[in-house]
Amino acid sequence: MKILVQKFGGTSVARLECMKQVREKVLHGLAQGNKVIAVLSARSGETNNLLALADEWSSTPDKAECDALVATGEQVSISLFTMLLRDAGIRARSLLGWQIPITTDNDFGRARILSINSKALHGFLEDYDVLVVAGFQGCTEDGRITTLGRGGSDTSAVALAAALGSVECEIYTDVDGVYTTDPNICSTARKMDRVAYEEMLEMASMGAKVLHIRSVEFAKKYKVPVRVRSTFSSDPGTLVTQEDSSMEAVLVSGIAYDKDQARVTIRDLPDVPGMAAAVFGPLSEKGILVDMIVQNTSLDGHTDITFTISRKDLQLTLQVMKEVAEKTGASEVLHDVSVAKVSAIGVGMRNHSGVAARTFAALTQEGINILMISTSEIKITILIQEKYVELAVRILHDTFGLDWDIG
Ligand code: ADP
Ligand code: ASP
Ligand code: MG
Repeated sequence: MKILVQKFGGTSVARLECMKQVREKVLHGLAQGNKVIAVLSARSGETNNLLALADEWSSTPDKAECDALVATGEQVSISLFTMLLRDAGIRARSLLGWQIPITTDNDFGRARILSINSKALHGFLEDYDVLVVAGFQGCTEDGRITTLGRGGSDTSAVALAAALGSVECEIYTDVDGVYTTDPNICSTARKMDRVAYEEMLEMASMGAKVLHIRSVEFAKKYKVPVRVRSTFSSDPGTLVTQEDSSMEAVLVSGIAYDKDQARVTIRDLPDVPGMAAAVFGPLSEKGILVDMIVQNTSLDGHTDITFTISRKDLQLTLQVMKEVAEKTGASEVLHDVSVAKVSAIGVGMRNHSGVAARTFAALTQEGINILMISTSEIKITILIQEKYVELAVRILHDTFGLDWDIG
């Protein structure tokens, strides 16, 4: 049995006319001799609306109840779409995470998939040609509904593709593929035909929301070819796949940005062993993910530590840092929410030097001040004032020759 997993994002299922286009893509998959698993997101805006509702009802919404609430967005999409398929005479049924089940851990709001009952899915495929599965959700071993984190339907789709041995996992969205940078903020962004898993991993973790980061982790681990394409065109899109030598020839293949950053500085910590653990231990206990970290050197026996976090974690982080400051004798805690990070990514960086220097020179020319820097083997990231993000993305895109003309 040939199985194809196709995932359709929020804009693809937003309205009846869009869903009809989604149906065409599913029909095409069937016509190629596949059984189809169609993974759907909530209609665009719906998850935000549900989360706003939770905040309206409760000052500190219970995380498990929040998941039970937001998972309903996908339930609406899959039942409506299945009606549409059945109207066209297609043997289809909808499936929620718990009905399969897709089992996850109990980290509500950002649960990780532990297992998928592929045997049950094979059983359903005996009776149906299309299974319409709710993305973004799963359930714990004791039956509580979980969600996988914002943008998590991509991960549901790739995990299903891995579990079922799908020929390819198609991710349908509102753009034609993966671009050299977000085409919505840089008009010269160029669509890539192929991108390496590792580059895509860095792009996703550095803010390119076209694919959920965990979906790329799954794809890389289980070698699932992922094709990102548009619901609204027949363009072949971008294949996310294993690296090859032609990819290494390109120094920088993409620029990503992330505005969901807040910077926190804890000042005048005693410069003795254990201070970094005293700062980051309590943050990790509260489940707060820290992104960039810089520790300053200091001559008077004291040092500052600066780090970045997601803006939604700022209040909790400041509470935690207040306690840390009291315990350690640090003098003050500062914060800034008007920052954002921009990253240049490319597997070609492994064998070439000078990317950092060119990045800094280009930003200097525009008078953009760099607040923090971090690097990995295939990425350089800088933190800057949020107001300069679009400019910085365009400048770096141009500097590394990613525009159409230079190609
Ligand atoms: P969906 O609802 O289909 O999951 P998303 O909004 O999550 O869609 O992701 C698609 C969006 O990702 C695009 O509209 C685009 O603005 C954004 N994006 C950011 N970086 C990139 C990139 N490098 N290539 C393509 N799209 C990108
Ligand atoms: N509906 C969820 C969200 O908006 C999951 C997804 O769209 O992938 O984040
Ligand atoms: Mg998405």
